Amino acid sequence: MNETCDCAIIGAGFTGATLAAGLAQLGLRVIVIEARAPLAVTAGDTPDQRGLALAHASWKILSALGMWQPLAAEVTPIRSIHITERGRFGVTTLTAEDAGVDAMGYVCPALRLATVTERHLQDLAGVTRLAPARVTALELQPEGRRLVVEHGGQTCEISAKLVVAADGVDSATRDLLGIGAAVHDYQRSAVVANVSVARPQAFTAFERFDTAGPVALLPLGGRRYVSIWTMATSAASAMQAMPGDDYTQRLNEFFGTRLGTISEPGPRQVYPLRLVRANEIAAPRAVLIGNAANTVHPNASQGLNLGLRDVAALLEAVAVHGMQDAGCSDVIDVWREQRLPDHQATVRFSDTLARLFASDLAIAGLARHAVMLGVTAIPALKAKLVRNAMGLGGRPPRLARGARLIR
Ligand SMILES: Cc1cc2nc3c(=O)[nH]c(=O)nc-3n(C[C@H](O)[C@H](O)[C@H](O)COP(=O)(O)OP(=O)(O)OC[C@H]3O[C@@H](n4cnc5c(N)ncnc54)[C@H](O)[C@@H]3O)c2cc1C
Repeated sequence: MNETCDCAIIGAGFTGATLAAGLAQLGLRVIVIEARAPLAVTAGDTPDQRGLALAHASWKILSALGMWQPLAAEVTPIRSIHITERGRFGVTTLTAEDAGVDAMGYVCPALRLATVTERHLQDLAGVTRLAPARVTALELQPEGRRLVVEHGGQTCEISAKLVVAADGVDSATRDLLGIGAAVHDYQRSAVVANVSVARPQAFTAFERFDTAGPVALLPLGGRRYVSIWTMATSAASAMQAMPGDDYTQRLNEFFGTRLGTISEPGPRQVYPLRLVRANEIAAPRAVLIGNAANTVHPNASQGLNLGLRDVAALLEAVAVHGMQDAGCSDVIDVWREQRLPDHQATVRFSDTLARLFASDLAIAGLARHAVMLGVTAIPALKAKLVRNAMGLGGRPPRLARGARLIR
């Protein structure tokens, strides 16, 4: 096969699949190259247990692209977020009411989101999906990039005006483009498990900080919550291996009694945590989106939300400047300028939280307390935090604000 297309997307995860949907809506020809076989869950694998908090802005983006409808019945709105610090009095509550909206975001089972995005991709006109497939070369040419792709035991060539790296934290496309990345290993891992609580509080998410934590509980509906407990990597595998009742006993001791007894844990999954930042987010006729550009600590539930804003901004740049040539320098320059401030602010926020709340130093303890007090006492600070949590900080792309792609 020798094919041409407007855009080749490498990686059909959440961001790659969403971008494909948006470009197809613009009438562009897209080829998606994904390493995994469709809906690949090999025997013995535990399906993704995470519940992903999708911010208000992400809801707007997915709605505009027709991907929200099949999810709507399975998401749980977040109307308030309770933030506490273990060992100190006081609670900070961020509410949707503060922002004048119905929900600050929604918790969506990750497995469901993966199924819906994949099905959506299969049905799109103008989109070809190659999977399992791998790109082995990515050569720059005057009017695009030439990709050499291994697929189904054969080698094919694709000419694309724009190449998008959406292949996640260890992006091979980033390497093929000659772009390095700065990596910080937090030496911490997130242990994820679905649990039941005795006294659920509807539509409320909880974040409890501690130098040995934090732990977040996101509502999945009824008595079920997804717990995301961050701890030293050295402790995480023991937490995963211990009997379920021992695990919930520790979680109860750590989280306290706000939701009553925590019980009925599902399978536990462990995610080692790293901050990975590409040294550049664009190259001639290529951009990096989602985790390939920035992989952040999940403490503030920002990673996918940031990636979906990458997608929305790229669709906007293509709609305005790139309908004839999706990879022209105007598209790339406009997109890069739009994205850098959001990347910097989001990375700084989650990284500061990670370091501040992992430190035993007294000064860090004071700083934590000041943050909590400040958020409680200063309405402007609280409003800013709420806007950020909703994905509306800074200068959000048009789709994230519920506007049409083109004015
Ligand atoms: C514990 C935890 C909880 C989280 N909770 C939240 C949350 O509540 N809210 C939030 O916004 N974010 C959250 N995140 C972050 C979120 O999961 C990621 O930011 C998001 O999944 C990134 O999407 P992506 O499409 O960029 O990358 P990925 O989801 O990693 O997708 C990459 C895709 O590329 C494919 N691929 C890889 N290599 C190749 C290759 N060489 N060639 C072709 N294809 C390839 C992969 O198979 C995959 O399909 C969480 C993360 C963790 C670890």
